[in-house]
Amino acid sequence: MRIKLLPSTFDDQGVAALEQRLTCFLIDDSVAVDAGSIAIALTNEQRGKVKDIIVTHPHMDHIASLPIFIDDLYPTLEEPMRVHATPEVIELLERDVFNWNVYPRFSDLKNDYGPVMEYVPIPIGQPFSVAHLTVIAVQVNHIVPTVGLVVSDDRTSVAFSSDTAETEEFWKLVNSVNHLDALLIEASFPNGMARLAEVSRHFTPASLSEELKKLTHNGMDIMAVHLKPSYRQEIVQQLEELRIPGLRVMEPGKIYNW
Ligand SMILES: [Zn+2]
Ligand SMILES: [Zn+2]
Repeated sequence: MRIKLLPSTFDDQGVAALEQRLTCFLIDDSVAVDAGSIAIALTNEQRGKVKDIIVTHPHMDHIASLPIFIDDLYPTLEEPMRVHATPEVIELLERDVFNWNVYPRFSDLKNDYGPVMEYVPIPIGQPFSVAHLTVIAVQVNHIVPTVGLVVSDDRTSVAFSSDTAETEEFWKLVNSVNHLDALLIEASFPNGMARLAEVSRHFTPASLSEELKKLTHNGMDIMAVHLKPSYRQEIVQQLEELRIPGLRVMEPGKIYNW
């Protein structure tokens, strides 16, 4: 499985910046997990290949350029863009984003080929298919309805925590998978901001290290993501000090193969 954390900003050479401002993981060039930077970080060729987007929750950093992405592709979509999300998240997207005020309600619109966007409600705790992948979603502990995911193909399983604080169902799911190749887990705030992390339901390196004790697998890559750009260096240092085997920070723009 090929996974890229799409960059959201670029340095003055046009190279992906290390800071992660938005969240969008591109899997095997065809499925996106969240859509923060989807409209700004893909080439035209890549843009045409994505047909399925899983939205874990409706926070802006995870959906920021989703409306723009569909808008860009509007005339060329020969099949609707499928947005996979829980019914609660679909309702929030319709109410707060695709509401004719913030952006058009694409789920009501058609081009010459037919509908341009289709919601696919996802079940909790039950496997479902997205393109060539099998996905299981469970609720995690964030301030809006949010799912964590395990995404598998024939050979590989990768877990995505999305945004969360201390949680239980996600670890039950992750630990139930036969073999886990990688865990992509959030580490949003430095240890000194534990209070803010708690109220906004995110991890710090310290709370993440406690949480990782619930993980029964070992030997997989543990990729820290969602580091708040303003505190990145501090968080990176605190993560390194944990000396957890396999733990490193995921780099935007880099392709990882599992
Ligand atoms: Zn969030
Ligand atoms: Zn977020």
